[in-house]
Amino acid sequence: MLPLHIPALSSALDLDQGKCQSDRWDVEVAIVGAGMVGCTLAVALGQAGIRVALIESRDLSQGVRPDERASALALGTARILQRIGAWPLMQSWGVAPVHRIQISDGESLLRVQLCRERLQAPALGYIVENQITQKALWQRVRECPSVQVFSPVQVQGFSAHPDHMQVELAWQGSRQTLRTALLVGADGARSRLREWAGIRSSGWGYGQVCIVSTLTHEYPHAQVAYERFHARGPLAILPTTHPYRSCVVWTVPQTEQDRVMALSEVEFLGAIYPFFGAQLGALLAASPRTCYEPQRSHAHTYIAPRLALIGDAAHTTHPLGGQGANMGMRDAAALATLLIEAKAAGRDPGALDLLQTYERCRRPDNALVLFGTNLANRLFSNQVWPLLILRRLALWSLETLPLLKPALMRQAMGIRSQHPQLQALPLCKEPLPTLV
Ligand SMILES: Cc1cc2nc3c(=O)[nH]c(=O)nc-3n(C[C@H](O)[C@H](O)[C@H](O)COP(=O)(O)OP(=O)(O)OC[C@H]3O[C@@H](n4cnc5c(N)ncnc54)[C@H](O)[C@@H]3O)c2cc1C
Repeated sequence: MLPLHIPALSSALDLDQGKCQSDRWDVEVAIVGAGMVGCTLAVALGQAGIRVALIESRDLSQGVRPDERASALALGTARILQRIGAWPLMQSWGVAPVHRIQISDGESLLRVQLCRERLQAPALGYIVENQITQKALWQRVRECPSVQVFSPVQVQGFSAHPDHMQVELAWQGSRQTLRTALLVGADGARSRLREWAGIRSSGWGYGQVCIVSTLTHEYPHAQVAYERFHARGPLAILPTTHPYRSCVVWTVPQTEQDRVMALSEVEFLGAIYPFFGAQLGALLAASPRTCYEPQRSHAHTYIAPRLALIGDAAHTTHPLGGQGANMGMRDAAALATLLIEAKAAGRDPGALDLLQTYERCRRPDNALVLFGTNLANRLFSNQVWPLLILRRLALWSLETLPLLKPALMRQAMGIRSQHPQLQALPLCKEPLPTLV
């Protein structure tokens, strides 16, 4: 359990301490949601001395929320986490580098190999338990004196004014207001802030469920990840820090959810083995399964007067390709960079042109990932023969056309040169370890 320093609401709201840039605001930035993305923004801003309120409805004194999942964090995301000082903690608690990704389509013998050597990168990405990432970020939050944590506190509503945003907070039956220059919605896929701001979001479900489990196998994974496409849905196999264990995300039609979840461990291993392939040998054990419904959604805009959306509050995608949190971390880094520059220039952090720059910076990257992930899922999750030919052609092109593969790899690794958000993000004061 994390011994978080959580100020009581009344004392935390005794904010007339003259610490702010402007007495118009109690804090410069209020972030709603202390998930991976909200915490990343809070630390990046806190490290630069910006006064932040981080508001979370869950009770953070209860420690990290149980989460069986491990996420694929791209190299670009690892660099963001390194700059905010969370990566060394994560490395010490366990991250599994991915050296090669193998992509295959059903029974086809065609295999696309993405190798770190191709881009001379230390790794294509890292598989990290969500609990480790979250724990490291919370530790960093606690180390930032300019970040005040409000938990368990609910945001009840807000109203935008020309020179500030007024946020209504509720805590154990009492209500308080907080004045901030900018309110950031990092409150996840079902964002209330997005709804209250009247921002519409377009999206759909896939009629699929993602079943997550950690499997023990006969042969070592050798830091290889597999993305196997099958007509019923994709299967991702991700190496963990244990050489004989991989985390699987198995997508199946929603109609099969109850049957697959009810299987015994032995039956589950038998059911997944034909899709798993022989590379890792026999399947020996499976951890208890959890199950998630994939959704695709994209907010029509990320901004409103004195409000910005980041992470799942702005967009959600199918877990295929492991891009959701990566996009969110890039949102957080981009917004932090702009806010830090604004502070240095003595500018209003909630200025409309700043928010417009944030949206212009992030929307094209997110739209591209959402489009690509959706296309891959639609193209590969069916047995219509013209699409079968098309996707085999796509895989063949990826393997043979010289420029296509590095371009795809750079996008997936979050290191495209067009991503401007890293360079200006200030470094944490700790010496940076090498990414391995
Ligand atoms: C099966 C599966 C596998 C995935 N694998 C990957 C992967 O490999 N790589 C990857 O990059 N992504 C992956 N993702 C996506 C990734 O998990 C999400 O994109 C990411 O967790 C979103 O983080 P977030 O901080 O934006 O939102 P959340 O994690 O949802 O956090 C939102 C926070 O806001 C709080 N909150 C909500 N409302 C309020 C309120 N009114 N007041 C105060 N607090 C509030 C919530 O309690 C919560 O703590 C996967 C997703 C799934 C389902």
